[in-house]
Amino acid sequence: MNTSTLIAPPALVRRAEKHDTKAVQALDSAHFIHPFTDHGDLATRGSRVITHAENIYVWDSEGHKILDAMSGLWCVNAGYGRKELADAAYQQMMTLPFYNTFFQTTNVPAVQLATKLAALAPEVGGRKFEHVFFSSSGSESNDTNVRMVRRYWDLLGQPQRKVIISRNNAYHGSTMAGASLGGMSGMHAQGDLPIPGIEHIEQPYHFENALPGESEADFGLRAARWLDEKILSIGANKVAAFIAEPVQGAGGVIIPPSTYWPEIQRIVDKHGILLISDEVICAFGRLGHWFAYEKFGMRPDLVTFAKGVTSGYIPLGGVMVGDRVARVLIDKGGEFNHGYTYSGHPVACAVALANIELMEREKLVERVKDDTGPYLAECFEELRHHPLVGTAQACGFVAGLLLVKNKATNEQFDPDLGVGMMCRAHCFRHGLIMRAVGERMIIAPPLVMTRTQIDEMMVLIRTCLDATVDELRAAGQL
Ligand code: PMP
Repeated sequence: MNTSTLIAPPALVRRAEKHDTKAVQALDSAHFIHPFTDHGDLATRGSRVITHAENIYVWDSEGHKILDAMSGLWCVNAGYGRKELADAAYQQMMTLPFYNTFFQTTNVPAVQLATKLAALAPEVGGRKFEHVFFSSSGSESNDTNVRMVRRYWDLLGQPQRKVIISRNNAYHGSTMAGASLGGMSGMHAQGDLPIPGIEHIEQPYHFENALPGESEADFGLRAARWLDEKILSIGANKVAAFIAEPVQGAGGVIIPPSTYWPEIQRIVDKHGILLISDEVICAFGRLGHWFAYEKFGMRPDLVTFAKGVTSGYIPLGGVMVGDRVARVLIDKGGEFNHGYTYSGHPVACAVALANIELMEREKLVERVKDDTGPYLAECFEELRHHPLVGTAQACGFVAGLLLVKNKATNEQFDPDLGVGMMCRAHCFRHGLIMRAVGERMIIAPPLVMTRTQIDEMMVLIRTCLDATVDELRAAGQL
């Protein structure tokens, strides 16, 4: 096979140039093991080859323009094609492309970013975030959390406090600890997970877990109290921390009732355990705040971030370490035997700084909070009238809807029908990227999306829902 067109330097591959899709697909299938992919399936269908992107749109190798309502993978908050971010990377690479931050060395972008993040993270209930630990991903950051909370309790003379409680259908990454903290049964089934010392409670998903007639508010309190019950059943003196996403992302955009987080906070405070807010999706403007804990009145001790910190232009993650943990680690800890080659990578940190500056200049966080976020929520409310939509909700710039067989009774589709995947296929066909999680269809658009672009997206969403209805009717399923 002639691979010369594939390895041409980027400058020679112009945007308008037609790519040899079949050749790329064949090499892709022959050599590249993709994340979360069935490779038998991939070999027969072939990957969709994404070649370039601008603003909220991506293009594939066949020239199709697609509205990316998922921001890549919940991360391209500033939108595609931002020259400022490329310039920051280029300049930093020419100045200092890498140096480690072990052995009492540091670099200027990492220090500047740590300082900036400490200033952006709001103080809540007297709890401050003055320190940051850097990694390159959400998964690594949650691994760091596991090590950090266990170290914290060791240093306080309570080494028996090891258990971290999480929730079913949570997503916290794909490393051994990340996948264990997560509550995805499919991931646990492969490789003897979870690792010891991780326990799960049920998620606060009203549609599935509420009692008949139970209000959102009552359900939120009851769901939070599952944590109390779990702590008591394990023994409070053995529990180190509770970890959760403020709004579950990969689980299908599950927005908890407003009563949930205050009650969770009361329970973790009562037992003195640490609270970890995993904001890999929710931070950096996604919910209309720099950090989502502020929105929900949570007072976490550790906050996981990644994705939006660089708008996904380069890998970077980390943990905001609240004073409660930082003071013990620093004042009593001596050396913490943990770190990554790329902790505080100068190029990643320089891109993050440029990204935050751009977001501040364009007021992207405020826009989502006060303007485009509320508008998206209105649009999603209207979707509830669609014959296929059971529930539809948005929170900032994440939104989800549930496809149901019968709106009046909320009867669900047989999961084997794959209605979510059917709808997703219609989305691709119509030039829209939406994600399917079972029968939940979800979005997390770039924060630069305007009201006009939201209108454009809503027209596409309705078209795809209608096409799904047509297909189901033709198959006698509706
Ligand atoms: N935590 C949450 C809440 C996430 O959504 C993700 C990724 N979707 C992760 C952790 C893992 O991040 P990464 O894929 O960068 O390891």
